[in-house]
Amino acid sequence: MPRAENTTKYMKLRYVLGIAVLFSIQSAVIGQTKQQTENLVIVTLDGMRWQEVFGGVDEVLINDSVFTADRDGLKKMFWAATPEERREKLFPFLWKEILQKGQLYGNRKYGNKIDNANPYWFSYPGYNEIFTGYPDTGVNSNDKILDPNINVLEFINKQPAYKGRVAAFTTWDVFPYILNSKRSGIFVNADVDTLHFTASSLQLINDMQFLTSRPLGVRPDIFTYMAAREYLKTYKPRVLYIAFDETDDFAHEGHYEQYIASAHAEDGMIADLWKTIQSIPQYRGKTTLVITCDHGRGDKPKSNWRHHGSDIPDAQEIWLAVIGPDTKVLGEVKEQGQLYQKQIAATLAELLGLKFTAPHPVAEPIHTIYSK
Ligand SMILES: [Zn+2]
Repeated sequence: MPRAENTTKYMKLRYVLGIAVLFSIQSAVIGQTKQQTENLVIVTLDGMRWQEVFGGVDEVLINDSVFTADRDGLKKMFWAATPEERREKLFPFLWKEILQKGQLYGNRKYGNKIDNANPYWFSYPGYNEIFTGYPDTGVNSNDKILDPNINVLEFINKQPAYKGRVAAFTTWDVFPYILNSKRSGIFVNADVDTLHFTASSLQLINDMQFLTSRPLGVRPDIFTYMAAREYLKTYKPRVLYIAFDETDDFAHEGHYEQYIASAHAEDGMIADLWKTIQSIPQYRGKTTLVITCDHGRGDKPKSNWRHHGSDIPDAQEIWLAVIGPDTKVLGEVKEQGQLYQKQIAATLAELLGLKFTAPHPVAEPIHTIYSK
């Protein structure tokens, strides 16, 4: 082959490669900047049923004297003729703000389904699935065992822009193990972990959480919330996780009105959180809020509402709500479809423009949540 032709080919190749490199640099830059989400807030309501999220108070349970002591009082607050009116009374933030500006998945009335992929349908396997994207069958106990799997909060905390700016406030004291705070380096404040902060608001909450009674054997969710809110205002984390607990505990005890009261209060706390987020320049318009649960509960027979676990039919049925600058307005998603809890981890990373990778398999993200 003559030398000149070779050189021309080489030049052509260089030109093509140059364009390709330029193009890939450009798309990498676009890839990094296309997301408007700079901060992430995740909230979980432990064992909160999709039946109440989408239908409001249950007509049978609200009339059942075994589960509801003050039936008239509960009806006065939360009863209405249609599921749409009832759910708005119970979860006004979900059914006003998120309905109008975000997305809600899991209304099985329309065949829109989201389920646990793990086969256990209780807390630790559920939280492992949410945050690792991997329904590891080796994670099958609620005991205080360090989760061997890398979670997405840990992955985010490893990125230079987020290092030391990922925090979790939880009511349940197993979360330091679920999130493996020892290995992951995430700040986890669980149950009555002392709030060692100089901010006076956090010192006050610390005094209160040690002086309050503990009707459920853990700190009341309001202290978890207030500690998280004041930490957000003072220390400005880029990723914040809040894990509530009361709904599951009251359900196990068979107190339907308390289960409902806690669900309603937690919706109010989430509304307050969103208002707080919009009042701070670092967060306003740049924060995505993701709300979900670890597992469902039974419904057939109705008394199964108290229980969950693999022996309770349908306790794998969950729900998911999202609002933020990269989440297009779909409101209540009525399309038939099947999502899984394991898809949440990669979705959280995508919202920040990151691809979650780990030594274990990671399920596909939910595209409709992070791409406008
Ligand atoms: Zn439970």
